[in-house]
Amino acid sequence: MREIEVVSEKQRVIRLSSETAGSAEEPQFRIAEIFESLQGEGYNTGMPAIFIRLGRCDLACSWCDTDYMRFNYVPLSQVLAMLQGYTARNIIITGGEPVVHPRLGSLLDALKERGYTLCIETNGLHQVPEQIDYIATSPKACYAERYVGGGLTEADEVRIVVDVSGVSADVGGELQPSDSEYSFEVTEKERQFMHFAQAMAQKISAKQYYLSPLEEEGEMNIHQTIRLIGLLNVTEQANKVRLLHKNG
Ligand code: SF4
Repeated sequence: MREIEVVSEKQRVIRLSSETAGSAEEPQFRIAEIFESLQGEGYNTGMPAIFIRLGRCDLACSWCDTDYMRFNYVPLSQVLAMLQGYTARNIIITGGEPVVHPRLGSLLDALKERGYTLCIETNGLHQVPEQIDYIATSPKACYAERYVGGGLTEADEVRIVVDVSGVSADVGGELQPSDSEYSFEVTEKERQFMHFAQAMAQKISAKQYYLSPLEEEGEMNIHQTIRLIGLLNVTEQANKVRLLHKNG
């Protein structure tokens, strides 16, 4: 059996071009980690699940805390063997950005054949494979312009990180109520972020919408997040947007 190695940032171009997909008989996957735990955030908080974290992402958010460039190439048979040691029947495919992984469909087919319920966590810029049962998508304000004309229009839950300082473009739109009705001052960046969040809430049909605080300069922007949730819940239908509390 071929030895599995950790792929460094310097190696990735060569190896991704030559070995990413594996052979037709035995595809390989960029596995950052596989582990069993409880879902720590969102609507399914507390749900037992096996997490399959795939390497690489097509975005590069400045605040990203995932080491998605550190992964091993693992053949499908070995991925399936690793799952046998776990008991959960839900699998959360995450990353990085899992949807851009070559031949992801062959992994999902194998998992469906074994009866797993499949959830995915995606940045929402790409269509999600049909094998997926549950979609959690996290549109990124720092790439706002890329979400305007493309990306997902349906999901189960939408999670938006409150990256007010990083919002890359004002996607426009009418915010209600008008400025004079706000009970506090809203900065221009907050207004741009709200345009983005409101545009995502209108574009992506989902059962649940969340704003998630972001750590900036060592502090979570929890108060700003709560304030913006209040504003969005005035502009959207009542209590549509909720606070996403991340556990672990
Ligand atoms: S989309 Fe997610 S994984 Fe990719 S860089 Fe942004 S935060 Fe990190």
